[in-house]
This record gives sequence, C-alpha cells and structure tokens, in this order.
Amino acid sequence: MAGRLRNWAGNIEFAPARVHRPSSVEQVQEIVAAAEQVRVLGSGHSFNRIADTPADLVSVAGLPQEISIDAEEGTVSVAAGVRYGELAAHLHAAGYALHNLGSLPHISVAGAVATGTHGSGAGLGNLATAIAGLQLVTADGELVELRRDDPAFAGSVVSLGALGVVVRVTLDVSRAYQIRQAVFEDLPRGQLDAHWREISTSAYSVSLFTDWAGDTVDQVWLKRLDDGEPAPGELFGAKPADGPRHPISGVSPDNCTEQGDVPGPWHTRLPHFKLEFTPSSGEELQSEFFVAADDAVAAFAAVERVRHLVTPVLQISEIRTVAADELWLSPHYRRGSVALHFTWVPDTEAVLPAVAALEAELADLAPRPHWGKVFHHAPGYERSADFAELAGRLDPGGKFRNAFVRRHLFGE
Ligand SMILES: Cc1cc2nc3c(=O)[nH]c(=O)nc-3n(C[C@H](O)[C@H](O)[C@H](O)COP(=O)(O)OP(=O)(O)OC[C@H]3O[C@@H](n4cnc5c(N)ncnc54)[C@H](O)[C@@H]3O)c2cc1C
Repeated sequence: MAGRLRNWAGNIEFAPARVHRPSSVEQVQEIVAAAEQVRVLGSGHSFNRIADTPADLVSVAGLPQEISIDAEEGTVSVAAGVRYGELAAHLHAAGYALHNLGSLPHISVAGAVATGTHGSGAGLGNLATAIAGLQLVTADGELVELRRDDPAFAGSVVSLGALGVVVRVTLDVSRAYQIRQAVFEDLPRGQLDAHWREISTSAYSVSLFTDWAGDTVDQVWLKRLDDGEPAPGELFGAKPADGPRHPISGVSPDNCTEQGDVPGPWHTRLPHFKLEFTPSSGEELQSEFFVAADDAVAAFAAVERVRHLVTPVLQISEIRTVAADELWLSPHYRRGSVALHFTWVPDTEAVLPAVAALEAELADLAPRPHWGKVFHHAPGYERSADFAELAGRLDPGGKFRNAFVRRHLFGE
C-alpha cells in the first residue's frame, strides 16, 4: 500500500480525511473519542470497501506487537495488528499451535477474525472461533474487555469493525503438531459428486482447486495430521502430483508451502502460501460464497450452469469446508459450510457480471458471501437484530458505521 493508500489487491483506493497510526492503546482511545466517524484498517487484504471511510482511518499495525502465552489457560494474547505468520512462528517456537490458518499468513489477526476468515477442515471452525477474549476501544474512547462467557461475546468477534477498535485479542492454543501436505491431480469430476463427504473429510484440512472447465478437478490438497503413515497412493481416481504445485496451473510453486507428504510444523503446511512471498497470484480479485456442506453437490451444479460466464474471468476456484459456529455474523453461523472461492482476473467490471450470475444461480441454497471479498448482496443474518442492539449499545451514534456496513448490515 505504498503511495496512495490502497488495499492489497489495488482495486480499492481508500479516501480517508485522516490516517492515524497510533503506537499505544491510549492514543487509540484519544483518536476515537475525538473522531466523528472512524474505521479500522488491518493489513488491507479485503477486496471491497469494508474498511474504507471518508473520515478517520486508524491502523493498529503500530501498536506494540507483544505476544504473551498463558500455558495454564491454554491461550495466547496478542496485539490486534500482529499477522498470523508472526503469531504462528512465535507459538510454534514455544511448543504451541492454533487449530487452523487461512491460505495466507500475511493477514492481521483482528482484521481476519472481523470478517470470519477461514481455512479448510470439515471439523474446524473459522479463525474467529479460536478467539477467547478481546479488548476494544468503543465510541467514547473507553477500553472494554469481552470474554467468551459474556452474552455479547458471540456478537463481537466477527464484527466487520462496526463495534470499535480491537486492540488486543486472546486466542485458544493447543500443543504444536505436525502436518503432511500432499497434492493429488485430476480427480474425475463425477467422483467429487459421488464421494464429496469422503473426499472433504479425508484429511484434517482439504482444499480442492478447479477451473470448472474440464471433466476433472485439477488438484486436491490434503493436509493430514502426521500419524507416521504415508499419503494414500490414489484418491478416488486422483493421482499424487509428481512435484510441487501452485494452485494456478503454470505458475511457479516457489511461493507455496512444502508439499510431497513431508511432515513439518503445522504453520508451515496449513497456509498454502509462504509468509516471505507474495501469496496467490498477486494480480487478482476474489469472491467466495458459503452454502450448507450438505448442499455442496447442488452448489457445484449451480456453478457449472453459469460456467460460460465464470471461466472467462477466472484464474482458479477453491472448494473448502468450514465447521458451524455460534458467532452471530459469521458466514458459518450454525451451518457447517462448503466454501466456493473464486480467484478472478484483476478487472472489476469484467468480474461483476460473473459474481451476479453466481449469486443468482446459488440463490436457492441461501448463499452467504465472504465479508471481505467481492459480492453484490448479503442476506439478512438470523442474529442481525441482536447485533444491531449490541452496536447500538457500544456505539450509539454510529461512529463506526461506514457505507459498506450501513448497506450490508443495517440495510440502509
Ligand atoms: C491473497 C489473499 C488470500 C486470502 N485467503 C483467504 C483465506 O484463505 N480464507 C479467508 O477466509 N479469507 C482469505 N482472504 C481474505 C482475508 O482473509 C480477509 O479479507 C481479511 O479480513 C483480511 O484481514 P486484514 O487484516 O487485511 O483486514 P482488512 O481488510 O484490513 O479489514 C477487514 C475488516 O476488519 C476490520 N478490522 C481490521 N482490524 C480491526 C481492528 N483492530 N478492530 C476492529 N476491526 C478491525 C476492518 O475495519 C474491516 O472491516 C484472502 C485475501 C487475500 C488478499
């Protein structure tokens, strides 16, 4: 985000009147108390205007990056702007781990959980489900602490930045573990429908990559807990890759985490991309829709009905699973989900018709979009009224509401 302030993808130019980079929680409190309208910027990896504001934009990246592990509680407390890659390395060095990670380690913890960012794993909740507590600066500059046993907690983790500035979060940790990552190629398309359940639960974390064009699914990435056993020699007709792969065919796998079924620390296998390299293709937009995991096969058919619109603007699609949770604005709220992700070409105008076609075709399955990616329409959430009540209590004047939040959350 050098020069003019833009998001990672470069498709959004932020236009705040003022940008603040506080170096202490007290400074955050002063900035918020004095401001009329505020939004928070994490690491800027969202693809839409969720973080934007015409008024005051606060980056929490400059807060002291202290990380502190509480072995007795089984938690780690971390400054909001710390990136998952740094947190994970710190935890692993101390013998601890998180339950899951997104495809890239470059994103800030608070920004990721605010949008319900997820990895893959039918039994694994999104990253926000690991949050056990948070500290946030609310509209009047007060520092509020919320823990899991607070009735409002389930509404305050996936918050879209609409409740206040999160300055510190506490996450559950477990003992460090080892993962083996193996890539399989050319899964016959029919096998995906016939064996969706078995395939999506065949490892701790499973990701499938497809361009929806041919009669095979290009790649299946299995991330297995290391039990000493080698990966299977075949997966429903898919064959082990004969070398490292990037999800996008023809792109060098140098920026990808180690494959080949070699055991290694959890944080060097769960993300697809390495912290020190550009993740994904680097030139792209992204969309993602979640439907019930039980509706996966119907959702695949829906995508294929509009593939004439999707494939011309698609770089690659990824299919993952996310366990159900209790977080009010989580796209996985009380619904074990299949995630249909689309890495598009970096051309908003060309991509929007394909996004609209997908939304229309998936409509019968009640799709929920990823809050941080490109979409037109967010459905009403079952707990929207509870969230509005909570926001009204913590932020009675609507200081933290930007146009995105007003439109997609509050229906204005
Ligand atoms: C290459 C790439 C790969 C991705 N892969 C995945 C993936 O595997 N899985 C997935 O689910 N998503 C993925 N995403 C999307 C990404 O995880 C989300 O957009 C995430 O929100 C980005 O975190 P951020 O820190 O950059 O947040 P930002 O984009 O900076 O902000 C997102 C939201 O969080 C709020 N926020 C940020 N910090 C705070 C804070 N301290 N207090 C209160 N609110 C705050 C902002 O106000 C805004 O509403 C990917 C994105 C990219 C660019």
